[in-house]
Amino acid sequence: MSAYINQKADRLRSDGRVKVIINGVDAFVASVQGDHATYGVFIDLENRHSICNCPARGDCSHQVAVLRQLLEEA
Ligand SMILES: [Zn+2]
Repeated sequence: MSAYINQKADRLRSDGRVKVIINGVDAFVASVQGDHATYGVFIDLENRHSICNCPARGDCSHQVAVLRQLLEEA
């Protein structure tokens, strides 16, 4: 995972752009207001699977930002 993604994830969080919409026990849905659009992130902790509907492939700053937000709130 690149340092760029980590830095951007921290910036999104410090700007308050991460909103957890559904807080399940093992699964979460969140919205992240990115630089160009708002993206939806789904995280399944039990199966260690997450997806985001942004144009990036694989890990993106939105997923990292939501994961960190969840870990901090836990
Ligand atoms: Zn994304």
